[in-house]
Amino acid sequence: MKSELIAPCGNNCAICVAFFGYTMSGVKRKHTCPSCRSRTGTCAFLKQHCELLTKGEVEFCFECPNYPCAHLQKLEDRYTKKYNVSVIENLNFIQNNGMDKFLNSQKEKYRCPKCGGIMCVHTNMCYSCSPPE
Ligand SMILES: [Zn+2]
Repeated sequence: MKSELIAPCGNNCAICVAFFGYTMSGVKRKHTCPSCRSRTGTCAFLKQHCELLTKGEVEFCFECPNYPCAHLQKLEDRYTKKYNVSVIENLNFIQNNGMDKFLNSQKEKYRCPKCGGIMCVHTNMCYSCSPPE
């Protein structure tokens, strides 16, 4: 778990299926996603909607005067429903407790019980000990 892998929206790229290099249906991707922060161009979720993010004027959405904006709220709704992840809770946790504590809590939350690797939030798979065929 690394701070560079925590996206401005509060998502953790380290547990993302695209970062592991797979699609949702279990196929290996031609190109593994290098994480939201190291992508040039558009953010997977919010950048196309947000000038502050595009220009790099905020590091996290909670720094924004419009936090939480409608776009973030949409992402929040999708992720709480589908993946049991609240990006707003993540962001508030980072703001209140700091990045180190956040990364530690993520490590606990997504640790593979079999091998100690990192579980994928999108597929609930561990690609370290059970990669798809
Ligand atoms: Zn594992």
